[in-house]
Amino acid sequence: MAEFTIIGGNVSGIAAALYLTEKGHTVTLYEHRIWNKPCGSAISLEFKEYLYNEWGVELNEAHQGKYMIIGLPNGNHVEIESPFVATTRLELQEKLLQLLKEKDISVNITGKRLTATEVMEVATPQTIVATGYSKLTHQLLQRTWDPKDVAHVVRFDGMVKNAEYPDNHYIIIDNKVTGYGWLFVGDNNHLNIGIGGEERSLPHNFSWKAYFDRFLSILREKYHIKIEDDLPIQGWKLPLPVNKWKYHVSYVHNGIEFIGVGDALGMAHPILGAGIEPGWLSGWCLAEATDEKGHIDTKKYQKLLRKNIKITSGRRLDIFLATMMRSRLPYKNLFAYYALKLFTRKMIATMRKHHWYKVHIYN
Ligand SMILES: Cc1cc2nc3c(=O)[nH]c(=O)nc-3n(C[C@H](O)[C@H](O)[C@H](O)COP(=O)(O)OP(=O)(O)OC[C@H]3O[C@@H](n4cnc5c(N)ncnc54)[C@H](O)[C@@H]3O)c2cc1C
Repeated sequence: MAEFTIIGGNVSGIAAALYLTEKGHTVTLYEHRIWNKPCGSAISLEFKEYLYNEWGVELNEAHQGKYMIIGLPNGNHVEIESPFVATTRLELQEKLLQLLKEKDISVNITGKRLTATEVMEVATPQTIVATGYSKLTHQLLQRTWDPKDVAHVVRFDGMVKNAEYPDNHYIIIDNKVTGYGWLFVGDNNHLNIGIGGEERSLPHNFSWKAYFDRFLSILREKYHIKIEDDLPIQGWKLPLPVNKWKYHVSYVHNGIEFIGVGDALGMAHPILGAGIEPGWLSGWCLAEATDEKGHIDTKKYQKLLRKNIKITSGRRLDIFLATMMRSRLPYKNLFAYYALKLFTRKMIATMRKHHWYKVHIYN
């Protein structure tokens, strides 16, 4: 049995804490704050059920919606039955942290971001870095993401007044920022609206506010959704490497081995940017790679990640599509639209087939 320090208490850090504790180890987790992370917050139905069945976590704010509409800014679109629920990051983090406390896992809400020096004071010989896209991740894991692998994203999340819209989720592909915009519906006029794209594709002096407002106009004019203007937005960054495996999973610094999970390793899907479930799964893989004495075998961990995070990486189709979307091809919007139209069902079927959240890790 061993003791572990985990820095970062959102999905991936929390998952690592839970699974390591299940294996009999002792964990102390440090998190800056409980917050509503700027995020689309879409998770699969299966993951929602898994959290409830396996851990008793009930997400009351999660909403499925009827259809998912995938479209272009000109209004061309396809619809499929909604494959996911839109939840809120605040509820997800709050309930998961509560679960840790019920399991007697030590949780420290620090009220500030820990510095690398402060981390050294609380570090265990193998310390888990679950700090997502942040300065600390960069310092501890020596990750320097290529700008083409980083998405900059802004979103509004809250109640809207005077809105009129069907009970559908929307994803609108937009070439201008090599990315897409979304509108996810919640209960009682709760909407999550965002837009983001590849950092290097953004022109100099780009205004996210103007771009977000333009997205609202597209929703109004081409998709007949009535929403007021001037919604406040918040931004964040997300690493989306196409080839995740060229980066190392750990880094030794002053005799401490720092091991990444979740966004700190860039685990989100390279096209969709979905990183909640891969983040969770990476925490699980980490615990599976830990032996009884409490040593994390990082080679085994990397192997488990490759094998299990099917929805985000190893598949040739995803790598091909992600590379095409990052290219400078003409008619990229159209290409992306047809690719999503053709492959969305396949992507969703793959996610369901590798239903790791219900069963076990494939060794
Ligand atoms: C705008 C946007 C939309 C997205 N939409 C979706 C979506 O719809 N579906 C989906 O599945 N994924 C989505 N993602 C991706 C998803 O948010 C991430 O992949 C996921 O949150 C990764 O979880 P994590 O625990 O690894 O990192 P994070 O969620 O980033 O958590 C890191 C935690 O570490 C803490 N921390 C950081 N630095 C310090 C420090 N120095 N000291 C103490 N604590 C620290 C932070 O407070 C934070 O809580 C989106 C991301 C963005 C930016």
